[in-house]
Amino acid sequence: MGNTLKGKTALVTGSTSGIGLGIARCLAAEGANILFNGFGDIKEIEALQAATAAEFGIQTAYHNADMSKAAEIEALMQFAEQKFGAVDVLVNNAGIQYVANIEDFPVEKWDAIIAINLTSAFHTTRLALPKMKARNWGRIINVASAHGLVASAQKSAYVAAKHGLVGFTKSTALETAQTGITCNAICPGWVLTPLVQKQVDDRAARENISNEAAKKALLAEKQPSGEFVTPEQLGGLAVFFCSAAADQVRGVAWNMDGGWVAQ
Ligand code: NAD
Repeated sequence: MGNTLKGKTALVTGSTSGIGLGIARCLAAEGANILFNGFGDIKEIEALQAATAAEFGIQTAYHNADMSKAAEIEALMQFAEQKFGAVDVLVNNAGIQYVANIEDFPVEKWDAIIAINLTSAFHTTRLALPKMKARNWGRIINVASAHGLVASAQKSAYVAAKHGLVGFTKSTALETAQTGITCNAICPGWVLTPLVQKQVDDRAARENISNEAAKKALLAEKQPSGEFVTPEQLGGLAVFFCSAAADQVRGVAWNMDGGWVAQ
């Protein structure tokens, strides 16, 4: 545990589970106050908030905004300012995906994937930047994907949204280049979160194989290390992006993917 982010506030969208939660915990371990966002059972989220505050000696809060809705994102950012004064570290992590051929892709699924994975980052960023500029310090971290750098079939909306998020990361980095604000993307490979567990379960059922065999098959297809990336490893990269050592790291899309995009 360190204190490099003591007194700063981090908003991590989609932090009630998976990667967002892992990143939030790593930022909390560096002393940042955490504003949680995401769906889930409210009692479990309140317990998570209280446990995180007690474990790291920080303040936590939760705001339930649907990241596909601009008005709810505006309310989330207003809540952040009222509660903590400003968002110093913005982690755009909320994301969903859907698997289907392009001709069978439901239009409403396409719209939802683009809204949650890409457009939400535009809204949070445009609303966070004025306070970051006033303080001349800020860290914007966009959780893209290996699918932000290379494609897979049947994931057109997700691939388009994540490539878009990588592009938006670079534009944001250029617009803030002469300030103390940095913007970078993290591009994970497979991480065994609820989002990927569903793909494992679907595959096991479809191919009539065990859950363990489905996990191995998923990794064998894409991830040369043969191992899942962990939320804590991704959190470590987020902490690095927040550090003074990373002041001049701007506009990168850093893959942490067991070798996926090196192939
Ligand atoms: P997850 O399903 O475990 O978590 C997603 C989080 O986003 C949850 O907290 C959920 O409540 C929240 N969320 C979903 N829709 C939302 C909405 N409309 N508004 C607000 N919150 C919403 O998934 P994860 O695997 O932890 O994914 C997190 C991010 O990492 C996503 O952007 C995903 O695309 C990306 N990613 C995941 C993997 C992986 O292998 N798991 C790989 C690359 C990138």
